[in-house]
Amino acid sequence: MDTTKSQIQVENVSRFFGPTAALDAISVRLEKGDFSVLLGPSGCGKSTLLRLIAGLDSQTGGTIRIGGADVGDRSPSMRNLSMVFQSYALFPHLSVSENILFGLKVRRVGKAERQERLEKVAALMGLTPLLSRKPSELSGGQQQRVALARAVISERPICLMDEPLSNLDAKLRADMRVELRTIQQKLGLTVVYVTHDQIEAMTMADRIIVMNQGRIEQVGTPEQVYARPATTFTAGFIGTPPMNLFPARALAGSSLLPGGVTDSHLVGLRPEDLFVAENGPEAELAGIEYLGADRLVFARLGATDFIMRMPASAAQPPARFALGWAAGCHSIFDVATGARLTQFDPLSTSTTKKDPTHETA
Ligand code: ATP
Repeated sequence: MDTTKSQIQVENVSRFFGPTAALDAISVRLEKGDFSVLLGPSGCGKSTLLRLIAGLDSQTGGTIRIGGADVGDRSPSMRNLSMVFQSYALFPHLSVSENILFGLKVRRVGKAERQERLEKVAALMGLTPLLSRKPSELSGGQQQRVALARAVISERPICLMDEPLSNLDAKLRADMRVELRTIQQKLGLTVVYVTHDQIEAMTMADRIIVMNQGRIEQVGTPEQVYARPATTFTAGFIGTPPMNLFPARALAGSSLLPGGVTDSHLVGLRPEDLFVAENGPEAELAGIEYLGADRLVFARLGATDFIMRMPASAAQPPARFALGWAAGCHSIFDVATGARLTQFDPLSTSTTKKDPTHETA
């Protein structure tokens, strides 16, 4: 099989709505067999990009290739992909099995083959006992599974998903995340998944494409975008709570600050890397939130509010305390551009920097 078959290449693609750039000359490569997540806040352009890949909309400029071929003149049905959307769009008057089989019937797949594929997919998705029910007799999670089964049964190598879990409650969403990932891996599907939920992205993705205002901020594995955010936007978007950003001035005098850091820099520190130290810049306690295993400590350093995550078993910090952090876990950013300054990364991370999948935009 051609190894580039389900690779998607987005080359310099723009989409303007009047003067507004929903996508501003973006380029990214989505690899075969990967679970790629387009992540970003509302309005950043992720659905627009998915619709362009699907062929539901046309770009203003640039090229989209699937398996190496420019698909600009191909309708959605000619792109060899399936789609799952937030609204399940099941036919209410058809049974579960009729809903799942609908696309195959339209494509005139023979009856015996349809039946064989239905049994396989229903077993895979845990839908076998529900096949004769109507959608109205299913829970939200079951309906979503039918929508997914309809995509899976098409046996197309690429599946595009736009916020498919957002109608489900939190517990079901967590279960479905695991289920979706397992099915994707079992079938070797190339998935492009749109979400604004960074936890979904972190738990399911092979690679995350962080988007902001029609541009790509960073492309990387969940570990890469978490540990080495390429921009202050990514630093503030990934993580619950997100990375703290201190003006370098606020931390001046700390022996933990790398040499060469000046007022034109921001210092990013994750909540779990901070602790109460013997000496260091003096912080002021503002409040504590108990989370079970952990406590979130809300505090202030000069004019900067920040959050520390501590094990619930650790002693509570006093009203004033010296702030320390795990050596070498800082991220240094340029105040003006928001870009990560990799020259301040500790040497031990040089292997990450050489990794060719660690692309930044
Ligand atoms: P959400 O998570 O809210 O769906 P998104 O990241 O998917 O957001 P898009 O739907 O891709 O964002 O929209 C990107 C930008 O393009 C937004 O500013 C939006 O208002 C604009 N836009 C999208 N579709 C149209 C349209 N048909 N006409 C005009 N503007 C549009």
